[in-house]
Formats: sequence, structure tokens, C-alpha cells
Amino acid sequence: MNTIALAIHGGCGVLPLDGMTETEWAEARTDLGRALAAGWTVLTRGGRSVDAVEAAVAAMEDSPHFNAGHGAALNENGIHELDASIMDGETLAAGAISAARTIRNPVRAAHALMDDGRAVFLTGEAADAFARNAGLAVEPQSYFTTPRRVAALAAMKAHAAAGTESTESTENEKHGTVGAVALDRAGHLAAATSTGGYNNKPAGRVGDSPVIGAGTYARDGVCAVSGTGKGEFFIRHVVGHEIASRIAYLGEDLGTACEHVVMEDLAGSRHTTGLIGAGVVALGPHGEIAAVYNTPGMFRGWVTPEGAAFVATHEQVFPVADFPRT
Ligand code: ASP
Repeated sequence: MNTIALAIHGGCGVLPLDGMTETEWAEARTDLGRALAAGWTVLTRGGRSVDAVEAAVAAMEDSPHFNAGHGAALNENGIHELDASIMDGETLAAGAISAARTIRNPVRAAHALMDDGRAVFLTGEAADAFARNAGLAVEPQSYFTTPRRVAALAAMKAHAAAGTESTESTENEKHGTVGAVALDRAGHLAAATSTGGYNNKPAGRVGDSPVIGAGTYARDGVCAVSGTGKGEFFIRHVVGHEIASRIAYLGEDLGTACEHVVMEDLAGSRHTTGLIGAGVVALGPHGEIAAVYNTPGMFRGWVTPEGAAFVATHEQVFPVADFPRT
């Protein structure tokens, strides 16, 4: 039987350990474990990697602890504008939506658009209308709002007024995004990513998460990648495709390619003087797993081909209890 594998992330950032209560950290880890279980169940039943990444990402969109779906960031006008994409490594088919305001699970809309096939990318009202017409769940804006994001927006506006935007606490609140990469029994790779962007982002701003090749990329025989971090730099560096290119053209292994792009290209970008906070999860065609980040922490989780599941936020790694084996 062919190897299956799964990895997820729930965003990277400064993640100060005292920025959340121990209960919130534990809940976030539990929700990461749930997302892994949702994706793994698809894979162990012989399902497709695109369905596995959708299931894992949708589970994190439903959690208030991550910046996607319920709990997404607010833009400068206090509005949620949601971005998501999915890519099938077998066919290079992809679907992406951006600046959507009502779609409960943006990743499901991206998948439906990929299956529909008439467009790869829909934005704004067109994306919302597509989801409604596809029969997907839609919600009022209030569904996506959590007290944490409201407080973060107020804090960021206060920092902006005081000229102190680049302090660590504001950096922490900027980061988010969820993503998944999977390898199915047929040997096909897939990737999906979903985000609210960052707090206080300009209205209409689109990040890297829905940009195929930047925040999301999958190609059979090479790799599947989902990223988190400052989207503008992921777009400029075409991060997902760059990692795939290093593997395909330079013959680098998955870990080396991810390390180069996250730790050298992004961290040492000439476009800024500061560090470009970034992280990726990636899978290779034989189930190799990479979870690389240049920030103090990244919400992440993975299941080895043997079925052992782990979640982590910082360096300490936690095995997932009662993980479904079949
Ligand atoms: N990449 C996301 C964006 O720029 C945000 C993040 O992952 O922190 O929209």
C-alpha cells in the first residue's frame, strides 16, 4: 500500500507564550489535532488528497483560535475579507477566492470553484455569489468575529495613531492563516490555505494565501506547500513555486529547499530591513514532511506515514492522544 501523509499549520508569528492562557493554548492544540484527524480520516479511507486538505483546513476555519473563517482578522474598516485556495498536484487544477465576506468555509468554495473549472480565481462579491449558488453555507459578518480580533484591531489602530506599529505585540496580532498539505494512497499531492489576512489590512487587500504558486502550491512528484507569513513577500518570492523549482531544477531535498526559501530568501529579503516572518508546511512525493519557520513559533501538526500524529506551537512537540488509526 502506498504511503499517505498529512501536515497542517495554523499560522506563524511572535506567539508569546504569555499572550494566550494555558487553556487557550491547550484548546488550540486540541483543534489542531481535530484538523489532523479530519484530514487523516479521508486519507486512511482511500480518499483523495484534495478532499483531505479541504477537511483539515475547514476544521481550522471553524476554530476561533486561528485567523481563518470563524476568528478571522478584521480589515481597516472592521470587515472580514477572506482569502483561500486549493491545488491538486495530479492535474495542477486549482481554485481560489479572495475578499469574500460571507462564505463560512472559504476553502470549500475554493474547492468547488476548482471542480467547476470555469475560473481559477474569483474575488469579492463574485466569490460570495459563487458560494451561494453552489449551495455552500454562508454567514453574516458577525459569525466570523471574535472578541480577540476586535481587541486586536483596536490595539493596532491605537498603535498606528501613536506611530508604534512595529512593536512585537502588533506583529503577533498580524499573523495568522491555516493550511494543509496531503499525500494520498494514489500518490497524489494537494495543498490548501485559508486566511483572514492580517488585522487592520487595507480594504480589498489580497494576500498570498489565494495566490497559486505563492501561498499554495502542489505538483505530483515534487512537493505540496502551504505558507503563512507576510503575504506581500510570499507573492514577491513566489514561495510555493520557488520551493518546487529548487527541488525540480536543483535537485534539493524538501527540507533543504524549504529552509533556503524561509531562512535565507525571506529572512534576508532586500525589500526590507526587518525579518520577513514566514513559515511553511510541505510534503514530498514519498511522504517526507517539512515544517519550517523563522519566527519564534508556528501552530503546526503532522501525521507520519506510520500514523503517529503530533502538534506543536513552539519547540515542544505534543503527541495527539486517541488519534484515529484507520
Ligand atoms: N499570509 C497571510 C496573508 O498575508 C497572513 C499570515 O499568514 O500571517 O494574508
